[in-house]
Amino acid sequence: MKKLRLATLWLDGCSGCHMSILDMDERLLDLAASVEFVYSPLVDVKDFPEAVDVACVEGAVSSAEDERKLQTVRQRSTLLIALGDCAVTGNIPAMRNILGADKILQAVYVDQQPLGAQIPATELPILNDKALPLHHFVTVDLFIPGCPPAAETLFAALSALVAGKTAELRLDTRFGA
Ligand code: SF4
Repeated sequence: MKKLRLATLWLDGCSGCHMSILDMDERLLDLAASVEFVYSPLVDVKDFPEAVDVACVEGAVSSAEDERKLQTVRQRSTLLIALGDCAVTGNIPAMRNILGADKILQAVYVDQQPLGAQIPATELPILNDKALPLHHFVTVDLFIPGCPPAAETLFAALSALVAGKTAELRLDTRFGA
């Protein structure tokens, strides 16, 4: 049987959603029979490959680099999943939107530094003015909320996708913890 080619991507998130992937524990061994991790922070592959079946994306889009990565994922993946509240709504990264990127960078990297330790403006992160969820940039096929989504939810979703039961996919999940 051809294995499902699974990729995961980490944008502006805390990696907690990827920790939930690891929290599937021994169920990862069950999935290994039918799923191949072709790209992920959890495996050592440098470039996002072609012909991905399912891509799970954690985090909001907060920079031009995030946008570029997300567009590549969308072009090369059959099904794109917004994984977790940051990807679905913006969540924690979007809390900075009320002030805008410049004020946040000034407050965190300049004002809060001890005298003499200020970071030059050229070394600050280059951020979009707002952190936004994935669907502002690309078509999202499936939303899995949760902060993070439970390992049980991820296992149920991946098992359904492996079985080709996307139309019957009903996830026991909700926003927040
Ligand atoms: S949804 Fe929650 S756990 Fe996932 S990246 Fe965002 S803050 Fe972290």
